[in-house]
Amino acid sequence: MTLDQIKALIRTVPDFPAPGIQFRDITTLIADGRGLASAIDHLAERVPQGTSAIAGIEARGFIFGTALATKLGLGFVPVRKAGKLPVETIGLDYTLEYADARIEIDPSLVSEGERIVLVDDLIATGGTATAAAQLLRQAGAHCDTALFVIDLPELGGADRLRAEGVESHSLIEFA
Ligand code: 5GP
Repeated sequence: MTLDQIKALIRTVPDFPAPGIQFRDITTLIADGRGLASAIDHLAERVPQGTSAIAGIEARGFIFGTALATKLGLGFVPVRKAGKLPVETIGLDYTLEYADARIEIDPSLVSEGERIVLVDDLIATGGTATAAAQLLRQAGAHCDTALFVIDLPELGGADRLRAEGVESHSLIEFA
């Protein structure tokens, strides 16, 4: 499937979660078997050699991240919302497009110096992904690559990530 065909499977929902916001809804993509498999194939092509694990951001990053990790035979590290992990965590507070938030990881899942690629469904301002990369690095990982299905380039997320030393690759852009 081409990237244009994958893009056509993404539904746009106006005024969600707030008036004026065009929500890019990936549930219509993942409900399509060929679309989901193709999105994972395209993401897999962008995973650098030497990657030892995939980290996915809750919740939609879990869908693409675990499928990608399975395809490549890699482990999966969940980047979770606050208070969900049953062990001692490290966390970061950050500002989201619509609200403030906190993400946490279990640092014992990360080995010193291992190369972890970050995955989420969408990058907007880049706040979530930047916080996730910082957390993974705090746990000892080498994290210089982030993959997204969708980029909203007008919100500058890729630039923000690049300023942190993280290159991002996205399959689709919505202006
Ligand atoms: P950022 O931190 O880059 O501003 O926002 C990205 C995060 O918000 C991602 O975790 C993403 O899942 C979520 N997000 C923001 N806007 C949208 C949207 O229009 N569609 C989807 N699917 N997720 C969004």
